[in-house]
Amino acid sequence: LSAEHAELARDLAARGVKYAMAGWIDVLGRPKSKVVPIGHLPNLLAGSERYTPRGMGGIGHMNPIEEEVVGIPDPETLQVLPWDRRVVWMAADMSFGGREPYALCPRSILRRQVEAAAEMGYVCQLGVEPEFYVFRPESLERGAGRLIPMARSEEIKPSPAYDVEASLDSLPFLDLMCSYLEELGFGVFSFDAEGGEGQYEFDFAHAPVLRSADRITLFRLAVRQAAKECGLVATFMPKPYADLWGSGAHFNMSLEDPSGRNLFRSEDGRNGWSKETYQFVAGVLHHAPALTALANPTTNSYRRLVERLADGEISWAPTKISYGYNNRSCMVRLPANRPAIENRAVDSAANTYLTAAYMLAAGLDGIRRGMDPGEARDDLSYLADVDRLPATLLDAVTAFENDPLTSEVFHEHFVRDYAEMKRGEWERANLEVGDGERATYLLNL
Ligand code: GLU
Ligand code: MG
Ligand code: MG
Repeated sequence: LSAEHAELARDLAARGVKYAMAGWIDVLGRPKSKVVPIGHLPNLLAGSERYTPRGMGGIGHMNPIEEEVVGIPDPETLQVLPWDRRVVWMAADMSFGGREPYALCPRSILRRQVEAAAEMGYVCQLGVEPEFYVFRPESLERGAGRLIPMARSEEIKPSPAYDVEASLDSLPFLDLMCSYLEELGFGVFSFDAEGGEGQYEFDFAHAPVLRSADRITLFRLAVRQAAKECGLVATFMPKPYADLWGSGAHFNMSLEDPSGRNLFRSEDGRNGWSKETYQFVAGVLHHAPALTALANPTTNSYRRLVERLADGEISWAPTKISYGYNNRSCMVRLPANRPAIENRAVDSAANTYLTAAYMLAAGLDGIRRGMDPGEARDDLSYLADVDRLPATLLDAVTAFENDPLTSEVFHEHFVRDYAEMKRGEWERANLEVGDGERATYLLNL
């Protein structure tokens, strides 16, 4: 055990910290951890905590004699939790038997792609724009009925996006959130009421991709925590209602050289973007069907990837595999105001580690193979005569299994277990016969 770690434990104890957690991230993106008293921190950092690997978010085949996996905490991620300063949090990488990265550990999977990028001389940056709904718990008692938004019950027409009164009415929650994120060092630039009743978005600084993924883990915990403290409930479900906006989590990804110079913007490049940008975009578009299985991981995700809301408004979520300059109807936007490409397909249910790993691998594949993304679109891309994103989780999972890139990013056990889990979700949902179908067919056939 290291003397330095013993001193860190003493310092933290002197600041009132009593417990430490080193969380591994499951396949659904939920953090899991044992809790250790702070005096045990040096042991925790040395890999003392072991877990039965079966069941990382419901995947992993049962093998009763399988060896345990060890959580190896990343001390650089250590943070005192702003909502409970008795606890410090770290992210951990799961190691099989303490020897090799565990095949089902999303953080290790992303770390491998970070290393692949580094071998090519790149540092990947990621900024995520998470959207989510916050509502009053009474809504749940009404069963499947409409959720009652936290701040007001009347609808704002045509939409509450950017509405000042909606933001001010929600300030008790938003203020708590913002102070948590500030204390965690996120560098918040803004937050607002989004386009759905009770929907919000927080925007904060981009960071190296692994750190950004760790931030989203803490972000989700912070949202749930702030909601609980305000007597509210929050959801990252991608599409709670057919006639309200879905919750996206746009991924803004870019490459830098090791000195921190952005490699996507280029004064003499086409439209101000470098050759690598176009190749990266081409890779992301080429592997888009497979990527969808991770970026849109629920059966509900596909109700968001539609052209219009039930009332006819544009959804601003993509349906086609396209890109455009500042075109918000495309899957990939080359934004006017930042040197990163925006993948608008990703939704709020996505596991950031897995999705970022595959998107980065796809972009790097585009660069390695010198791919060309074709023409940018300047029209409403929903109408464009180009390939569609998978329309169901089943199609996405099939594309995921069939794409040769998949076996470069994931261990075969991951692919097998993930595909089985997601196909099972699709099959269960497909068995449902709902009111909508009865209304269309029952008396007409
Ligand atoms: N809520 C939209 C979505 O489902 C995105 C709106 C926006 O452009 O921020 O992705
Ligand atoms: Mg938004
Ligand atoms: Mg965006």
